[in-house]
Amino acid sequence: MTKWPAGIGMTSQRTRDRLIARLQQLGINNPQVLDVMRTTPRHLFVEEALASRAYEDTALPIGYGQTISQPYIVALMTQALLANGPLATVLEVGSGSGYQTAVLSPLVGKVYSVERLEPLLQSARRRLLRLGYRNVSCKLADGNWGWEERAPFDGIIVTAAPATVPNALLSQLAPGGSMVIPVGNGEMQELLLIKHTESGISRLVLERVNFVPLLRGQN
Ligand code: SAH
Repeated sequence: MTKWPAGIGMTSQRTRDRLIARLQQLGINNPQVLDVMRTTPRHLFVEEALASRAYEDTALPIGYGQTISQPYIVALMTQALLANGPLATVLEVGSGSGYQTAVLSPLVGKVYSVERLEPLLQSARRRLLRLGYRNVSCKLADGNWGWEERAPFDGIIVTAAPATVPNALLSQLAPGGSMVIPVGNGEMQELLLIKHTESGISRLVLERVNFVPLLRGQN
């Protein structure tokens, strides 16, 4: 495993530990998730000018009108996905900076991540490679269609909000699998945990959230 660049000052271990304490206060209690949030160098997923704010519990801009999600939301989505037991394959829609991909990587067998903006995809891919994440595949695609050739997935995580759950994603969820997805228009979104059970599809509202919209088509 890669040695994580330790960071100094506002990216130091002490600053990171403060974030972990906050996540615990907010109800994140899966030790594996807390550990990954502690060790993943979020300051390397934003531009240098924002690195000093990387361990604040807030979303930050990553260019092209997109954002790296708030750490609490990343932790919550990851914890909800893992609650279903070990996951061999996970599809992520919206690679963005690659941060959520990096958080998932050590916790699951393989992460497939799709992104519709080429420059974001290229820099996420480069960053993940450089930091030593090996069980990750990324591709440029409209995530509304999932990743048919790699389906079905034990878990699906969507990091941009559609108005309704895309049918292709539902159909690519393995039996027993679960999906975490923000759904809604504008700033009125709900984070849903959707499970594909023997008796059908179940939905649970986890939180009110504010994600960038899931757009249609490639750039
Ligand atoms: N998981 C990312 C969050 C990035 S914000 C991170 O940790 O940084 C959401 C991302 O979803 C943006 O990069 C945006 O370009 C992407 N996106 C929006 N609509 C999409 C679509 N239809 N298919 C794939 N990616 C999409």
